[in-house]
Amino acid sequence: MDHQSINLDSITTSDIEHLRPPRNDVDPWKPYHLLVEPEFSRAKQLEDVTTAFLTNRECPFRCLMCDLWKNTLTKPTPRGAIPAQIRFALAQLPPAAHIKLYNSGNFFDRAAIPSDDYAEIISLVSGFKTVIVENHPKLCGPVCLEFRDRLEGAELEIALGLETIHEPTLAQLNKQMTVDDFRRAAEYLRSAGIYVRAFVLLRPPGMTEVEGIERALESISFAFDVGADVVSVIPTRGGNGIMERLAEAGAFHPPNLRSLERVLEVALSWCRGRVFADVWDVNSISHCTNCVSMRKDRLHQMNITQQVPPHVSCEMCCL
Ligand code: SF4
Ligand SMILES: [Zn+2]
Repeated sequence: MDHQSINLDSITTSDIEHLRPPRNDVDPWKPYHLLVEPEFSRAKQLEDVTTAFLTNRECPFRCLMCDLWKNTLTKPTPRGAIPAQIRFALAQLPPAAHIKLYNSGNFFDRAAIPSDDYAEIISLVSGFKTVIVENHPKLCGPVCLEFRDRLEGAELEIALGLETIHEPTLAQLNKQMTVDDFRRAAEYLRSAGIYVRAFVLLRPPGMTEVEGIERALESISFAFDVGADVVSVIPTRGGNGIMERLAEAGAFHPPNLRSLERVLEVALSWCRGRVFADVWDVNSISHCTNCVSMRKDRLHQMNITQQVPPHVSCEMCCL
């Protein structure tokens, strides 16, 4: 693909695959990352959440902006590996109220998480208040309800990537989904008593900074309309090959850290549900070394209090 002629509307799955850097060497019997962090909970208090980033078979979708495949396997996950990874995580980490089993893809994809392992997974996580998994809207069906029924006492929350409600951008993202698919999945899960978390991108390719902010806000509002009670805003990042090619061609610009603050300020003021900023790697979207740590701290405060602290004033970047 000639980068001079790159066109967001004609990028194919094979273009996306062709430009990928090498994947990381991961162990199918160990999560590739673990953490415990406090999150402002549905009960409006700070509660610890364990996150096990599970190593498993790669997601079958090929979204334009995705770099999650880097820590995945090219073959189906061996039977027993996921319970072993969860046991490993629980042994390493202090107790927490909730658990995220994030698998860089779709929990209800059986080549990723073998259904023969469900019983053991459920017995390992049933003591948590909430079990949070991620899944593509097109893969939400009766299997989610069966899994929920088998969780003893724990609530099930499913995190769905909405990305954006701007349909032309959603098509360019190669997400294989429409806004209506998201609506159907969210309403289906909510009607079954399963909580919905939505992921929204800030400034995906092809948008100006202002469009990035406006469309992120429209997308958050839509996620609440269809029943999400928590939305995580993710600054669109490079790192997967095709995004670097788009950046070279002027079709992708990472968002500014101040735009992430702006989106949180506005969305939190609606009081419609929890809104979190994904602050992993926010250093890379700051254009000012003088205020980056103050802005990071402000975003962290917004995440953990769901309130909007005073603005950061910086003599270097906001004169
Ligand atoms: S569905 Fe999620 S994990 Fe799969 S390619 Fe898209 S963004 Fe990546
Ligand atoms: Zn500054």
